[in-house]
Amino acid sequence: MYSFGAILGARECADTHQSREIELCYETIDSANSSKLRFCEACVSCTDSWLLYNCINCQDSVGCVGLRNKSNCIFNEQYSKEEYKKRLQEMRLGTFSGLKKAKETFEELKKRTPRKFAAILKSENVTGDDITNSRNLHCCFNARNEVENCRYGFRLHERVKDGMDAFIVWNGSELFYEAVSVTGQNVKCSAFIWGGFNVQYSYNCFDSNHIFGCVGLRKKEYCILNKQYSKEEYEVLAPKIIEAMKAKGEYGEFFPADMSTFAYNETLAQDYCPKTKEEAEHIGFKWRAPEKKEYSITLKTEAIPENIADVEESIIKEILECAHKGICKEQCATAFKILPQELMLYMRLGVPLPRLCPQCRHMERIRLKNPIQLWTRECQCAGAPSHRHGENKCKESFQTPHAPERPEIIYCESCYQQEVA
Ligand SMILES: [Zn+2]
Ligand SMILES: [Zn+2]
Ligand SMILES: [Zn+2]
Repeated sequence: MYSFGAILGARECADTHQSREIELCYETIDSANSSKLRFCEACVSCTDSWLLYNCINCQDSVGCVGLRNKSNCIFNEQYSKEEYKKRLQEMRLGTFSGLKKAKETFEELKKRTPRKFAAILKSENVTGDDITNSRNLHCCFNARNEVENCRYGFRLHERVKDGMDAFIVWNGSELFYEAVSVTGQNVKCSAFIWGGFNVQYSYNCFDSNHIFGCVGLRKKEYCILNKQYSKEEYEVLAPKIIEAMKAKGEYGEFFPADMSTFAYNETLAQDYCPKTKEEAEHIGFKWRAPEKKEYSITLKTEAIPENIADVEESIIKEILECAHKGICKEQCATAFKILPQELMLYMRLGVPLPRLCPQCRHMERIRLKNPIQLWTRECQCAGAPSHRHGENKCKESFQTPHAPERPEIIYCESCYQQEVA
């Protein structure tokens, strides 16, 4: 429920973001192979925990950052099993106020704990963030499993190579440019091309080859504007169109913004590159004013039960008020309902009821993630006497998705390995 990019093996979860193989998780971001996590980010193989960041193989822990193979830890301190249980009860994480307090301490610890400049693993000659097992990438984000020789890509997965300016390209794709949701070879200025090769200026075409300016084709060859041609005709006509487009300065550019059937503020673009109405319209995009919502709210934010233990099943009949009350300009629905299966999950995990509508919850998660943008910065290691360069400051510089004004402490790979990992 209410999740984004949770396609692979997610079961009985709510409010998760880009996580796989997870079960009974709530408010979980960029995590994998985990169960019973609440409010966790970038965790792998963790269970039954709250508020973890960048932890691997940890159990029964709360508010920890960067731990490996630990259990019964609270704010990175080790407790005995009994002490942990006692402390956990005292924290009252099932109440809105108890959880809020724990979140604040956790956020402080996150800021104090040095981070690696970017999440890059087993990769060579790459810049970007969230990259695994890849080579020769320039400014790419969320690339994994043998992605090679690409520039300006976001979400490139499984043996993708030789392309640029792309969003969601996967499964053995090669030679792509200005591509959105593509798996194929030699695809230019196209979107939703699943299978096929030599595709240009096409949309929603599957398993089709040598097509130009086509929409909605399946298993076709040598088509222009959805009309069938012979191979010989196609090879004469397509270059003529390209010449005409070049003369107008159109060739090589993606479809113009005004062709989009969607308004800027109702697409993913608004999540990652938020713009105002004026800014979006200035660059040629449509804008859609939010619909007037006529809900009759039956439960004001202040009246939402503080403790999950006090929630009665009748809550599923209520229309709850979003704490943002529509003033956040993030498509706030102003009100929301609790689904029966959602309530069961909250009760099972012992988390207090949310006070924001699903869209506002989604935007809160987006804010926790790094932006898809890079800044050149220097290592911020303090140069402690025990540190690898003694009293001297590290001179390493790198490209990082953490903006210079961010409060986190950012380390280069070597300093991070020595001091933190
Ligand atoms: Zn809202
Ligand atoms: Zn909001
Ligand atoms: Zn360093």
